[in-house]
Amino acid sequence: MQSQAPMVYIITYGCKVNYYESEAVASNLSAMGIANEMVSDGAISHLQSAAAFVINSCAVTSMAEKKSRYGVSKIKRYHPQAKIVTMGCAFGRKTPEMVALEVANTLTDDSVVKSHADGVIVNHKREKAFIKVQDGCKNFCTFCIIPYLRNKIEYRPVDEVVAEIRAQGSHVTSVVLCGINLCYYPDFGALCRAVDECGIAWEISSLEPPMMTPELIATLKDCRHFVPHFHICLQSGCDAVLRDMNRHYTTVEYASIIQKLRAAFPNATFGTDLIVGFPTETDAAFATTLTFLQQLKLDKIHLFPYSPRVGTKAATLPLIQNSIVTERIKKIKQTLHLSD
Ligand code: SF4
Repeated sequence: MQSQAPMVYIITYGCKVNYYESEAVASNLSAMGIANEMVSDGAISHLQSAAAFVINSCAVTSMAEKKSRYGVSKIKRYHPQAKIVTMGCAFGRKTPEMVALEVANTLTDDSVVKSHADGVIVNHKREKAFIKVQDGCKNFCTFCIIPYLRNKIEYRPVDEVVAEIRAQGSHVTSVVLCGINLCYYPDFGALCRAVDECGIAWEISSLEPPMMTPELIATLKDCRHFVPHFHICLQSGCDAVLRDMNRHYTTVEYASIIQKLRAAFPNATFGTDLIVGFPTETDAAFATTLTFLQQLKLDKIHLFPYSPRVGTKAATLPLIQNSIVTERIKKIKQTLHLSD
């Protein structure tokens, strides 16, 4: 969309938490009377009247980080006069590549969260609104950079989350509760019950297996508006690799959770994330993972080729050849009939 009034454009990379935080920035700008619009990086070259850009970046893989840098370079090329403000995980990392981009203004997490402290309610534009309820992780999975970038554990009180959901217009038809690691929410069951009372369809974004206790499953079963789509991060189907990743569950425990959920929610759908080519994933470990996936019969699997993140424990380990990783991804797709 083109506009003649000076505009702040907000570009978001990465996860649902980032999308939420971008909406928080947009709501803050609107409250200050500043015109703003959320756009994709594909729109940069033909936008008009760009006074400033906010780039909300992602660092989860090296590719995500590269995309965030590319967004800044593209803005500098097409809008040399525009101010650029960065936020999110990639720019929090201050790698030489990020520093070389010479972006002067970086929003800290605190300045984003301030929207709640100031009483500005986040106005969601999507029909399915992402509602951030938690931030931070200290699990230090050996492949993950996030605990180095977002290790302040925070959660939003139940009342605040409920107030935000109730304040949305009728265009919002469902909400998704999201966080960096929802395991850290102190009483997630109480939050679920309160959200269900809002009377709107709701679901939960990524879940960690240790969260899925019989108590939480029973609570969810009692919720009338809960949409039973479960995205429970697996990462590997081999116990030895899970240990090397510092994941705190076994494949037997994971399978048992899926079984309990299927018994409680016969129409549930299941998704997961899987890292392929973690440094200690031998041929035998990969074969074990593939067999495990065949048994689980999940509906959706997000496959991520292992991406070493400098500063993490796993980044010190020797890499598996790219060609082997590509071959393994192909094999999973073929065996499980997954589309690209
Ligand atoms: S649980 Fe593991 S993968 Fe998830 S954010 Fe924390 S360290 Fe990263």
